[in-house]
Amino acid sequence: MKLVQSILTKNPCYTAGRKITVKGLMLHSVGCPQPKASVFINNWNSPSYDSACVHGFIDGNDGTVYQTLPWNHRGWHCGSGNKGSGNNTHVGVEMCEPACIKYTGGANFTCSDTAAAKAVAKRTYEAAVELFAYLCKQYNLNPTADGVIISHREGHSRGIASNHGDPEHLWKGLGLGYTMDGFRKDVKAAMGGAGTTEPENGGWFRVRKSWTDAKSQKGAFKVLANAKKCADENPGYSVYDESGKAVYGGSGSGSGFSPYLVQVSITDLNIRKGPGTNYGKTGKYTGKGVFTIVEEADGQGASRWGKLKSGAGWISLDYARRI
Ligand SMILES: [Zn+2]
Repeated sequence: MKLVQSILTKNPCYTAGRKITVKGLMLHSVGCPQPKASVFINNWNSPSYDSACVHGFIDGNDGTVYQTLPWNHRGWHCGSGNKGSGNNTHVGVEMCEPACIKYTGGANFTCSDTAAAKAVAKRTYEAAVELFAYLCKQYNLNPTADGVIISHREGHSRGIASNHGDPEHLWKGLGLGYTMDGFRKDVKAAMGGAGTTEPENGGWFRVRKSWTDAKSQKGAFKVLANAKKCADENPGYSVYDESGKAVYGGSGSGSGFSPYLVQVSITDLNIRKGPGTNYGKTGKYTGKGVFTIVEEADGQGASRWGKLKSGAGWISLDYARRI
């Protein structure tokens, strides 16, 4: 999950400065054909935008999550119903919607490119799963407990939100099989909970300090590259596949990776600042000799990169023979 902070400090909801005890999370969909989170962020970050404010937007084009309010700030995302307002208890997150749909009244829309629209909805759904898993962990919430994770539509049926149909209207209208029950299960699975239903199209890549330390989990990802990025951002964390095998190693203890020795037989092997030719050269060479590799990574320009124990940097393992 790529999380970017972009707090709407000029919005009157932010300046009102009220806090809540987070008891749940509400999923929304913006209700207009605009996939770009930045458009909402720019419009809403203004003293005159006094009708709404949410905790986050998920971009439809790349799945980036933009945090737009501190999570425990009281948002203005769901209005109220006959039993009060979810704004007092729930974090509200908006998924952006495909550009190729056209609303024809209420929650009804037509779509000029179903495949593209489905791709956007799938992207935002998956990012929302990751975000909600992260927030459930942060606030110690049980994703499948009654009333914890709800949609705006469900909030209305529970009497704590205005009469909207999001986001189920979008999933239904596009013929996607998503439901809020499925969403809650996916969030639970992403948290690494035992006995949960895994998505049928493959498992998750989990980022943890060690496989057995389930509590250390930073996130669960469908896409390996995203999991690797998360591990890179958290020193000491590794990526584990469904069976608990470390598929990408950080340098910390318990990463499942054991340092090993390599023999370098050329004199001018570059040491780089990171794992790839896209990282700068340090200006130093290993020279011939035996070196200890403490971490491996995939990267540009070599089949695999290795980190030198000395801390000098990374070398292409194509020029190093394991001994
Ligand atoms: Zn809504």
